[in-house]
Amino acid sequence: MRWILFFVTLIGSSICGREKFFGDQVFRINVRNGDEVSKLTRLVNSDNFKLNFWRSPSALGRPVDVLVPSISLQPVKSFLKSQGLEYSVTIDDLQALLDNEDEEMQYNEGQEQSNNTFNYGAYHTLEAIYQEMDNIATDFPDLASRVKIGQSFENRPMYVLKFSTGGEQRPAIWLNAGIHSREWISQATAIWTARKIVSDYGEDPAVTSILEKVDIFLLPVANPDGYVYTHTRNRLWRKTRSLNPGSRCVGTDPNRNWNASFAGEGASDNPCSEVYHGPHANSEVEVKSVVDFIQKHGNFRCFIDLHSYSQLLMYPYGYTVKKAPDAEELDDVARHAAEALASLSGTKYQVGPTCTTVYPASGSSIDWAYDNGIKYAFTFELRDTGHYGFLLPANQIIPTAEETWLGLKTIMEHVRDNLY
Ligand SMILES: [Zn+2]
Repeated sequence: MRWILFFVTLIGSSICGREKFFGDQVFRINVRNGDEVSKLTRLVNSDNFKLNFWRSPSALGRPVDVLVPSISLQPVKSFLKSQGLEYSVTIDDLQALLDNEDEEMQYNEGQEQSNNTFNYGAYHTLEAIYQEMDNIATDFPDLASRVKIGQSFENRPMYVLKFSTGGEQRPAIWLNAGIHSREWISQATAIWTARKIVSDYGEDPAVTSILEKVDIFLLPVANPDGYVYTHTRNRLWRKTRSLNPGSRCVGTDPNRNWNASFAGEGASDNPCSEVYHGPHANSEVEVKSVVDFIQKHGNFRCFIDLHSYSQLLMYPYGYTVKKAPDAEELDDVARHAAEALASLSGTKYQVGPTCTTVYPASGSSIDWAYDNGIKYAFTFELRDTGHYGFLLPANQIIPTAEETWLGLKTIMEHVRDNLY
């Protein structure tokens, strides 16, 4: 009997347990020129060392962050040394950070259960976020409603919160988060923002006046399957969970799947790549659901996508170095938003078009929005700049959400005053 229990436990833990990252490290690597970038990119893409870009090489020559599994540490160090590439270790034991995050989450879940509250300063499961969206709609029935816009590949509902003070179809703002599942600060910032909108309506004249002219739609978890997977199997999962026939690799990068120069530069046709664009534009039902909703609505003027990390505020284009026709206005709005954001605690953001600020990226959400007449299209890359990367500690959720809110509000006020 004891043996049976032992095996059940063993099987249980290997099925239900998350992937471990004992001794894995994150390297920050300085790349000085295109030659070094291609050497490093070849190394990461070779699959020999199971490396993973946390921050890809960028147009501005910013250092690159790479996750290095413990087993690959020595060979990768030798490679870097032989190529004269300088590096430092930003995270020296990934599993230690994950364990910490896990413990905090579990402790918080216990607290929330006994106090029947939702702690905005903690990370949550999909279920808890959905429940809180429902609570917000219940608490503010005249202002907020939870709307189902579709189902994920694994049949999870996709919910948005609609904030509206008027019956007729007003011009609208789309706030998107969590399209890349491992970027947990984005989903956490989004749900905080939802609560902020309902609490500040009628109190903060800016929010009140925004909502008197426009509706806001907020999708806190744009990739629900990926998000659940980050909780149950691999905290660092980025893509969707759709199957790729003929490949052992799962998932598409949902931010390369939009119909904006689809399959162009900065996306991969390899299903095993982290930037795999999928078999065709809108192949991911999570993307298609948003596209259908926005097109059916027909009156969106602003689309903001929250990601992490790097502290950047970007606007179209990602698929070309060509200047967007509204680049000057968008740059101006983004600079004001970044200033407002920094005014709270000094967090510095870089501002610019995606393609020349980070790297070419085709098939992205904001390029699709922009090319479909949604002029005010922005991507935030939230905290931090790499010290914790995707594993931003929960005690930074509220400071991040609060400062981001000032940036979001600046953009929304501009939209309110410039309804074209
Ligand atoms: Zn992202």
